[in-house]
Amino acid sequence: MKAINKNLLSFLTLILLFGCSEDSITPTQEPQSIDPNKVYKWNMVTTWPKNYPGLGRAAENLSKYVDEMSNGRMKIKVYGAGELVPAMGVFDAVSQGSVQLGHGASYYWIGKVKSSQFFTAVPFGLTAQEMNAWIHWGGGQELWEEAYAPFNLMPMAGGNTGVQMAGWFNKEINSIGDLKGLKMRIPGLAGEVFSRAGVETVVLPGSDIFLALQQGVIDAAEWVGPYNDLTFGFHQVAKYYYYPGWHEGGSTLEIIINKDAYMSLPDDLKAIVKYASRAVNQEMLDEYTANNNRALTELVEKHGVELRKLPDDVLIELRRLSKEVMEEFIADDEMAKKIYDSYLVFKEDVIQYHSISEKAFIEIRDLEQ
Ligand code: CA
Repeated sequence: MKAINKNLLSFLTLILLFGCSEDSITPTQEPQSIDPNKVYKWNMVTTWPKNYPGLGRAAENLSKYVDEMSNGRMKIKVYGAGELVPAMGVFDAVSQGSVQLGHGASYYWIGKVKSSQFFTAVPFGLTAQEMNAWIHWGGGQELWEEAYAPFNLMPMAGGNTGVQMAGWFNKEINSIGDLKGLKMRIPGLAGEVFSRAGVETVVLPGSDIFLALQQGVIDAAEWVGPYNDLTFGFHQVAKYYYYPGWHEGGSTLEIIINKDAYMSLPDDLKAIVKYASRAVNQEMLDEYTANNNRALTELVEKHGVELRKLPDDVLIELRRLSKEVMEEFIADDEMAKKIYDSYLVFKEDVIQYHSISEKAFIEIRDLEQ
């Protein structure tokens, strides 16, 4: 027994020594030298108004966390939508390297990267908890990087809103036919689903929605949920507030980094940016979770908003249309198909356990006594 242990020990010692000598003689593996006096100054453009609750705060938090974790060696200046570039110009600005960082939502870039849709939300898709698991444990991150590589961009999850609201309407939706003829602000795959239900859909940045509703350019709009919708004052220009957000069950926001800029960082700052993004990602979900119901109560009790649930048959028809849209969406795009395959395999796996855990638990916890 003793002899075996001794041999094993010698063997392990050899591996250790061999490993160490390999590291020390390979010049490419020399640890990168860090200049403690060099300060990296980056700019970050966003698709949100500056300091906007949740979405805009995430960008400010990233700047703050990176500053704190790097002991001031990395400074990120945050610009709201329209300050340096328009909201919808964020992707190009970061891709081209005129700024190093961006914060927005990947589904705004459908005209540039079709497969970007999967990294924000899929109708009747994953929840926040499930999205985080797919991205960080289920292969989503690697696919996202592959999809953005041709644009010289490194993507990271940069927040999650949780389940959103279906949106604001000025007429009641009692059947799928009531959607026909509406003009609605709704981005992403859900926009395509609504188009098939006869809705004329448009994509507008959040800050343009109020005026468009007020001036009658659109009749309906979805944005996020009570916490954000209250701050934009949509209750002043729309009467009915519908749930659930069938189209955005856990929307992920994104941080995009110019790849050349990212690669120029010393390793410790690369890690700081990565882990600060992880912190921001969770922080945003916590902020929405903590504030949504207070805002909803204010909308209903103070502002007289009519809260309504979309009828089940409307939701079932939207689910049927969503399936149709998804099948066509991936048919002519290899990358979209590859990502959706991964997404679906993960979804089917995760909902099996969630049906007997999260879902079963919440159902019984909230059952009226
Ligand atoms: Ca939304």
